[in-house]
Amino acid sequence: MERIKIKFNGNEVEVDSGKTILDVANELGIHIPTLCNFEPLAPKGYCRMCVVEDRGALKASCVTPVAAGMEIQTDTPLVKEARYINLQLLFGERNHYCMYCESSGDCELQDLGYEFGLDHFDFPPYERKFLVDNSHKFLTIDHNRCILCRRCIRACSELAGHFVLGERDRGFNTMIIADVDVPLGESTCTSCGLCAQICPTGTIKDKRAAYLGKEVQSDIIPSTCDICPLGCGINVYRRSGSNFIIKVYGDWDSPINGGVLCKLGRYSVLYDERKRLLASKIRDDFGYRKIDFDGVLKIARSRIGDDAVAYVDGSLYNEELALIKKVFGNNVYSINPVEPPIPSSTDLSGLSKAEGYIVIGVDLNKDYGVVGSMIKRRVLGEEKAKLFVVDDGFNSLTSITENVFTFKDIEQAFDKAKGLKDVVVVFSALSDTIRDTLTKRGELKYLWLPFETNTIGLIKNGIKYEMKSGKNVFFFGKDHKKIRERFPEAFVICATPFEIEETEKIDLLIATKDGFEREGTFYNLEGKSLKRNKALESEYNVIDVIDLLSELSGKTKSEVI
Ligand code: SF4
Ligand code: SF4
Ligand code: SF4
Repeated sequence: MERIKIKFNGNEVEVDSGKTILDVANELGIHIPTLCNFEPLAPKGYCRMCVVEDRGALKASCVTPVAAGMEIQTDTPLVKEARYINLQLLFGERNHYCMYCESSGDCELQDLGYEFGLDHFDFPPYERKFLVDNSHKFLTIDHNRCILCRRCIRACSELAGHFVLGERDRGFNTMIIADVDVPLGESTCTSCGLCAQICPTGTIKDKRAAYLGKEVQSDIIPSTCDICPLGCGINVYRRSGSNFIIKVYGDWDSPINGGVLCKLGRYSVLYDERKRLLASKIRDDFGYRKIDFDGVLKIARSRIGDDAVAYVDGSLYNEELALIKKVFGNNVYSINPVEPPIPSSTDLSGLSKAEGYIVIGVDLNKDYGVVGSMIKRRVLGEEKAKLFVVDDGFNSLTSITENVFTFKDIEQAFDKAKGLKDVVVVFSALSDTIRDTLTKRGELKYLWLPFETNTIGLIKNGIKYEMKSGKNVFFFGKDHKKIRERFPEAFVICATPFEIEETEKIDLLIATKDGFEREGTFYNLEGKSLKRNKALESEYNVIDVIDLLSELSGKTKSEVI
């Protein structure tokens, strides 16, 4: 990059050509107000709040590249007046009576109002009433608050890859729309929630978070989504001084997801309707009775020995797995298959370079959603990468590609992908036939999406998928898979957070912590160790698996972790 000389507020500076005036101002620590601009979105210069003066001319600093000889002034009377009028115009269009807005106190437009000392409307507010679209399960769009910054449109396409939002009409008639102007709840929206996270005003809102607390009233806890093995970075907003989660936002700085989440990561923990096990219980001749931690320990201890087998699933963290191995030695098995049908030969960075994707048997709008975003933004975006979907059942990805094949026609997908550089095959489970077909194709790259969050942790701990019986069968995790049916004769102990199908048939049910009540590390699908931080105290009479296992291994918690 060429180095050029420009003047910035009277001082000569040498800067890289190709940068924008705003980039340079940020590097120099000079404040320029912005509104529609938001990294990592491509700048567009819609709001004109960032105007600066260059030798008498006003320029939008977010979209203007620096050029030799420029004399940039960021604080002249002309600049101040232009920004002030732009802001007045934004306030004058649509309804920005802050005191009636849920976002008051959490609004970038309002912040600018304070920054510029706005204490009245220069332009009488426009009284036209706009629609409030309440059709979506998780989101509401109050178009009366919209400033047409288009951050939502750009985030939905450039970052989340869903390309649902757009605009219609022009000038002050412009409206943000979903698909071909249908209610959001009837659109192809995947409920990733990114538009609500990025909207600077009170227009697009998370319904569940409304009126529960502003940012200043929240503790923001950095953590990791543990719903699938991608391990997206999240920020958990907990109402300060309480034990209540307001919302989950994607972490803009996460190298994995860069702020994007899927519906599961953003909403599933908050909308979880599964019935929690509220206390541990033991079955005797008269049915179930509650049992405390000491009682649980006593029974569990009496059942550990050579005839005990432990089953686990991939919801357990590395620290829990290590302790289970300490207590049960080699008698620890996975309840689900762990080995990849074909090991990955690329990682997530490989996805961002590929020219083609063959997705086999996974609906990436539903599962591993951020992997779906990574692929869709390259398929539907400027890169025009090719997508081939191979599936026998319903797969919503088929709506964005004509290249759809059944399993038996998979060879046709390979033929179509011929000639493309870097084709990545994405899959979770594979039949033996498909696996054999794929392994013959040396030119392809593979990305395996493991079945469970910490499947890689199970593999690293040498925990295999095998059915071994014992007189006493322990299960730790959430996915018990008919454990009583599999071991009809054994004394079965289940340490799990939810009521399970076979609750009534389990001998000892140990109610454990779940969701944001837990903390620990897990390996994501790339084998990176990620930390999940706790954000919530459990309000139930439930046991931390780590506490239980520390006791069972005869050591203190600090000795074993
Ligand atoms: S929730 Fe996600 S998919 Fe739906 S409109 Fe917003 S950004 Fe687009
Ligand atoms: S809905 Fe929000 S993000 Fe989208 S254009 Fe309006 S104000 Fe901007
Ligand atoms: S893709 Fe996986 S890790 Fe990321 S938000 Fe969705 S469920 Fe969570």
